[in-house]
Amino acid sequence: MARYTGPNCKMCRREGCKLYLKGERCTNGKCAFDHRSTAPGQHGAARKKVGEYGKQLREKQKARRYYGVLEGQFRHYYEMAEKMDGITGTNLLILLERRLDNVVYRMGMAASRKEARQLVLHAHFTLNGKKVNIPSILVKPGDVIAVKESSKESVKIKALAEGMATAVAPKWLENDVANLATKVVSFPAREDIDFEFEEQLIVELYSK
Ligand code: SF4
Repeated sequence: MARYTGPNCKMCRREGCKLYLKGERCTNGKCAFDHRSTAPGQHGAARKKVGEYGKQLREKQKARRYYGVLEGQFRHYYEMAEKMDGITGTNLLILLERRLDNVVYRMGMAASRKEARQLVLHAHFTLNGKKVNIPSILVKPGDVIAVKESSKESVKIKALAEGMATAVAPKWLENDVANLATKVVSFPAREDIDFEFEEQLIVELYSK
């Protein structure tokens, strides 16, 4: 499946906010957005009036890029969210938050969601004791996500484990630093998502 391989920082400039796609670089003073926040392209710096549709589209793109999800997959999550009880926009964000690659990032075992996705694809993790390599799997309460035994000796994993030791996991995850594992103790709540989204705009876009 085709995946965006262009510059990550361009996406932040396009969405007009920091999406934290490059790990350490996003917070160590080298962030491209901190130096130049205008939209990319020749006319990026020109002020443009954005209509309702434009706002809705940008909010959808922002969420899609923040979680590293392709268009078709994102719509699939929306359709799932619509069928669930509760508020569709909140359901959508909670579904995205439950993705396995996001959990690996949230537990502190990766500096970015992109890195977490790579680690999962390379089968460095287990889900409830079974090897797993599908980043889009949705976790649920009771699930245990852990670094695979044979991966614990990898130099890369050892370096990432240092990050996990200092990471503050969200309250729906219970980190077990000694075993490089985390347990899902509940579904994430809207307030656990520490990024500003106007998810109602996404619902309005897809409801047309
Ligand atoms: Fe976005 Fe990170 Fe690049 Fe800054 S360094 S523009 S937050 S991806």
